[in-house]
Amino acid sequence: TENKVSPEQLQKLDKKHFLHPTTPLPLQQADGPAVIFEKGKGIHITDVHGVEYIDGVSSLWNVNLGYGRQELADAASEQMMKLAYASSFFNNSHEVVIRLSEKLASIAPGDLNVSFFTSGGSESNESAFKIVRHYWKLKGQPKRRKIISLDLSYHGVTMGATSATGVPEFKKMITAIAPDFLHAIPYKTNCELGDKNDPDYDRSFRGIIEKEGSENIAAIILEPIQGVGGVNIPPEGYLKAVRDLCDEFGIFMITDEVITGFGRTGKMFGVNHWNVVPDIMCVAKGITSGYIQLGAVMMTEKLRDELNRMSDDVFYHGFTYSGHPTACAVALKTIEIIENEGLVDNARIVGEELLKGLNHLEQKHKITAKPRAIGLMGAIELFRDPEQSIPFSPTEFAALAVVEECAKRNLILRPLTFGGMNAVAIAPPLISTKQDIEKMIDILSDSISAYE
Ligand code: PLP
Repeated sequence: TENKVSPEQLQKLDKKHFLHPTTPLPLQQADGPAVIFEKGKGIHITDVHGVEYIDGVSSLWNVNLGYGRQELADAASEQMMKLAYASSFFNNSHEVVIRLSEKLASIAPGDLNVSFFTSGGSESNESAFKIVRHYWKLKGQPKRRKIISLDLSYHGVTMGATSATGVPEFKKMITAIAPDFLHAIPYKTNCELGDKNDPDYDRSFRGIIEKEGSENIAAIILEPIQGVGGVNIPPEGYLKAVRDLCDEFGIFMITDEVITGFGRTGKMFGVNHWNVVPDIMCVAKGITSGYIQLGAVMMTEKLRDELNRMSDDVFYHGFTYSGHPTACAVALKTIEIIENEGLVDNARIVGEELLKGLNHLEQKHKITAKPRAIGLMGAIELFRDPEQSIPFSPTEFAALAVVEECAKRNLILRPLTFGGMNAVAIAPPLISTKQDIEKMIDILSDSISAYE
């Protein structure tokens, strides 16, 4: 359909009526939106002026199957016509939510066989926090309230999820985070294994548990691979050490697979890389390839059964859109496509090309360092002098500048600049080919050259 409103008019109306998420308000108020997108096909997305971009970050790491998939639109449309909405409150149910729950159980690691549905990642994490606290309360240990997460983690924007988030910028809007959230230094495997001589020991998960008393800790939450915090891949043995630590102290292990779930990293779920099974796994984004809002909290049957045994009261937690039929239908179709098209394997194989490309950039350019990728989730950092570890000053906005150079060359990437880092993230749709990756790496290389 034709746009009825001109691009200039859209720009004006946006400024007047729309408050953008995660955007500098003065910038949006001064200039209006940077780009107004209109349509997408495959890995490409086109703006209202007809400029076509490669979407090198799958929007917000979520449009994993690319744009314009007829099968997903059909799944939504058919479900809307059959039964647009039904609630599963008050012990009601409907077919697609049941089929999706069963499907998720069949692909999830270990015995994560029970799902509770939400509309996204923040709601999933928020729900997980409530569920573990509910559990400990029923268990007669109400003091077990504290949740420990990692510095540089991102868990979303609701109150609990913001409190658990370790990227400081996302905490600026609230003056005091919830008191029962604590933060540990990422990836101190030796500390988690008990090395008290490490100067960071007190700030490791283990050190914090010892200091606070395990009888006060409800759960640990972590991303198997940190996304927004810089695409930080844990060292070998880390997730297992955290799993063992949780077992040692009887603490729940929650993994936030909101980005890493559904094939992004070259395995169906991030934890599969290390054969670790959490007690609770939160998912969203890729579950519907971003075509419609959906998230889930997956838990072990054991946990659900214990909740069941301990109380016959109502489970007083549910969103109007928990298990929305249309979203469930799109999720079922998304998972079917991931399986039929072998997209988990594709992410792994094409991901090797991505890592090769990023390694090549490190060799080629003076300002690049620390290339990394796992499946189709990668990043490279920019330093004024990588050899001496001299960073760019924050006012140079190096990663942002390189990403802007990429945009001029019709490639969308994302700067990750938290904690003083200057990283450029690349996380293209899982349908990307080796040639697509080569093209993205070439453009990124030209863009770094333009900035150098
Ligand atoms: N957890 C992780 C790891 C995320 O990356 C995100 C979003 O980027 C969230 C949670 C929050 O998800 P949502 O924005 O769907 O609430």
